Amino acid sequence: MISSTPDRPISVIYKTPETENLLKMTILLLETVSLYNRLPEDRKALIALKPNLVVSRPAEEGATTHPEICEGIIIYLQSHGYKNIVIVEGSWVGDSTSRAFRNCGYEKLAQKTGVKLFNTQNDDFFTVKSDEYTLKVCNIMHKIDFLINIPVLKGHCQTSYTGALKNLKGCIPDSEKRHFHSSGLHRPIAELNTVIKQDFIVMDGICGDPTFEEGGSPSTLNRILCSDDPVMLDSYAATLIGLHYSDISYISLSAALKVGSLCEEDKNLVLEINTPVHKVITLRDSNLENFAARIDEQDACSSCYTALIGALKTAEKYENKSGEVTFAIGRAFRGAVQSKKFIHGCIGIGNCTAGFTRSVPGCPPAAEAIRQTLSEI
Ligand code: SF4
Repeated sequence: MISSTPDRPISVIYKTPETENLLKMTILLLETVSLYNRLPEDRKALIALKPNLVVSRPAEEGATTHPEICEGIIIYLQSHGYKNIVIVEGSWVGDSTSRAFRNCGYEKLAQKTGVKLFNTQNDDFFTVKSDEYTLKVCNIMHKIDFLINIPVLKGHCQTSYTGALKNLKGCIPDSEKRHFHSSGLHRPIAELNTVIKQDFIVMDGICGDPTFEEGGSPSTLNRILCSDDPVMLDSYAATLIGLHYSDISYISLSAALKVGSLCEEDKNLVLEINTPVHKVITLRDSNLENFAARIDEQDACSSCYTALIGALKTAEKYENKSGEVTFAIGRAFRGAVQSKKFIHGCIGIGNCTAGFTRSVPGCPPAAEAIRQTLSEI
């Protein structure tokens, strides 16, 4: 079996026809990276799972962690003798964690697996000093022996991106969350990560919304990632929605505070457990009624894909009845020259398809630029 090594600190498993089931995918990922070796020796240790249930909306809408991923982690832990497991979360100030536990499938998960649910909105807090702040942290965090963070890879309206580092905001009381917002979020998020250590991260990269933390426009990335370094994982995962860590101050600040290391692009730091599937999507199947176009998507960033779909939804009627591929999009097309298998009218989307006869530049390209190209055809 493949296993992660110090020089490949991030591991990723893709959703494919063979790994369709998120629960099994999660267990396979954890087995492959031998999470067991990192767990406390004491089987009575309190292990906390921290999903992202920022709002009470189901995971399919792109804001919250799939309960099947949590279930996979629980089954893995229980199979190794760990029974003292709690799911810890505090939704954002405007929503109720109890409602989120219910609506997102976590109440059923707790009943099914016997784990406890803990609402940090009902907890008291202690104060702790970091470099620049005195932070309020929920009391439960004192009692946890091993923290598994299970964020959603998605966009955020204020910080552009949210993943592992920012997900710890659910471990502080509402009054501190308000203080974070009034302090600009970035610095307090980095400081918080110096006082709460996440021992392991399983990131839900199935269908996060690349534009908004509350979801509503999910975009398929079809992968689960893991690492024990939140800075490394966030600096890599941000690129999957078309951002760079330098766009997200709290990632660089966390690196400067030695929370973890940045993912340098020129190094191969990601262990891929399987290969992503080559997808050809027929737009008629995607409720885009004006179109009979097809998209050949191979490892596209969400932001690129979102720009294409956004352009198609609002463009004038464009129809290709030949049944051939109409758009090619994704990083697998880097360096590729348009081959004969594509019809003359096939349009490459984004800089990755720069070798195509017709390609819309940008990384990601603007939806308007795609619309403009369509109108020229
Ligand atoms: S051009 Fe390539 S790297 Fe850039 S956003 Fe699109 S798919 Fe991602």
